[in-house]
Amino acid sequence: MKHIQTPLIAPVPGTQRCIDSFHFGPQDAGKKVYIQSSLHADELPGMLVSWKLKQQLLELEQHGLLLGEVVLVPVANPIGQNQHIMDIHLGRYELENGANFNRNYYDTYSDVRAAIADQLSDDTQHNKQLIRAAMRTALLAQTVTTEYQSHHQALQLLSHDADVMLDLHCDFEAMLHTYSTYYSWPGIEPLARALDSQVNMLANETGGSPFDCSVDMIWQRLQAEFGERIPQGCLGATIELRGQADVNDTYAEKDANAIIQYLHILDIISGDTMMPEGTAPSSDLAAVETLKTPMGGLLVLHAQPGDWLQAGDLFAEVIDPVSDKVEPIRVSQAGRVYSRTNRRMATAGMLVGNVAGEKVIRSGYLLAP
Ligand SMILES: [Zn+2]
Repeated sequence: MKHIQTPLIAPVPGTQRCIDSFHFGPQDAGKKVYIQSSLHADELPGMLVSWKLKQQLLELEQHGLLLGEVVLVPVANPIGQNQHIMDIHLGRYELENGANFNRNYYDTYSDVRAAIADQLSDDTQHNKQLIRAAMRTALLAQTVTTEYQSHHQALQLLSHDADVMLDLHCDFEAMLHTYSTYYSWPGIEPLARALDSQVNMLANETGGSPFDCSVDMIWQRLQAEFGERIPQGCLGATIELRGQADVNDTYAEKDANAIIQYLHILDIISGDTMMPEGTAPSSDLAAVETLKTPMGGLLVLHAQPGDWLQAGDLFAEVIDPVSDKVEPIRVSQAGRVYSRTNRRMATAGMLVGNVAGEKVIRSGYLLAP
């Protein structure tokens, strides 16, 4: 194992942070998986999974069982990890500018396209190297002046040449679920199956430039333009490991073992594994109903993560104890509740829960704020 520290720009002198990455297995085998956790720093179930993976990967490496490289970044957001304010851990947004730590990743497409268009050959492996080198050049050429930007650049430099990149998050209160792209899904599906993930939502354009599709969508767009000279370059997914309070050994061991199974499937770990049969279900991210409250008040949730609801079913009630107004929040289409807020005082317009349905009902920007 190699431990590398990538320094970030210090916002003021004396406060410099770095990204700690742990590199396991051979780097020259032409296979690389990148795994990071807690990019939203207050989402910690993935950090425990990463730590358990670290122990397992160390042992696998010592026994010579790693056939490819695994890069692990357990603390993907040291900036947010230090946002403890009046006994509350924040960590989703940068305090300086309000920017979400999982948005605004640099889109390398135009730079890569311009660099490679005249150099592609019929050798797809050669093209793959060419594209990855162009991505790296584009990432290094960005103008980076803030800690937030240097954080994004550091994570992209560590992950841009991976065959698979996994971003471990969680929701507020939730069942395990995943987000991926239609491009990546066939290769991500075995992981969803190993994790027993029953809600897997796909899109190709979510808006907001999140981390998980910062690489796979470049390959997809290049493939759309240059055809079969472009091989499959990278698969990406966000794995939502239940809710914020779900940091425990039972879940973390189960999830880490599922990722180890997946590394077997990818031939990163030698030897066979027993995979669950069947295919993990998937649905369109635009078919998610995001439930919002039209008024502020005491939030009484009626639906639990995992519940199946029919159109018209009650999800929650919002109560104004001063005016006695009670506002029911109902779902408009059938679907499965996969997450809900952990706040119990709702503010007007607040998102209170998410239900994965079958019918596409949204367009444009598809992510949470
Ligand atoms: Zn998150």
